[in-house]
Amino acid sequence: MRMILFGPPGAGKGTQAARLLERYKVAHLSTGDMLRAAVKAKSELGQAAEGYMKRGELVPDQLVCDLVVERLAQPDCTNGFMLDGFPRTVPQAEALAVTLEKAGITLDLVLVLEVPDTLIVERITGRRSDPETGAIYHLKFNPPPADVAGRVVQRSDDTEEACRTRLAKYHAETTPVLPVFEAAGIVKRIDGVGTPDEVTARVIAAIS
Ligand code: AMP
Repeated sequence: MRMILFGPPGAGKGTQAARLLERYKVAHLSTGDMLRAAVKAKSELGQAAEGYMKRGELVPDQLVCDLVVERLAQPDCTNGFMLDGFPRTVPQAEALAVTLEKAGITLDLVLVLEVPDTLIVERITGRRSDPETGAIYHLKFNPPPADVAGRVVQRSDDTEEACRTRLAKYHAETTPVLPVFEAAGIVKRIDGVGTPDEVTARVIAAIS
């Protein structure tokens, strides 16, 4: 299966990706995770990306495209992949199309997780993750267990201000990517409101 997980920040892409990977065993390509790892490693890419990420802005297309093209060439992507958070702009979608065409690969599905903006800010500002396991929690909707609660951390771009910037970028720069996939007939829209289990059930139904 070769698919894109699409949706605004805080739609539940990371949470659903973790669940789907257990089931479908494909490579998970989250550009957000890759960029955060680069920032943590203080690599050249990380240093170039950090400021944009903190402000909730998009990292320049060329940097992200190079990262994805390199990652897609790795052997674990041959059996399928799940792109999460990419493409986020029309030039990124074009770069992806060129890469896939060169490799003779077609996409099966673009899954759009739909969540209204009014819910996104609450979801994002309450989001926490466990630095040891990567598990994602929410202080109100999915609180971490007592033995994990003491060590959860908040992403530096999960502030209300950065969240509003990220949402604005999503509507202005990312949603214009969808029409091309819609024309190809591979877009499925999923209601992303509800518990993680409810959304997973909808996602699995859509995939099958
Ligand atoms: P995410 O974890 O997907 O919410 O991404 C976190 C941040 O990483 C975003 O707010 C951007 O600053 C950056 N980022 C992730 N994916 C991309 C992308 N495809 N294009 C540009 N910037 C990205």
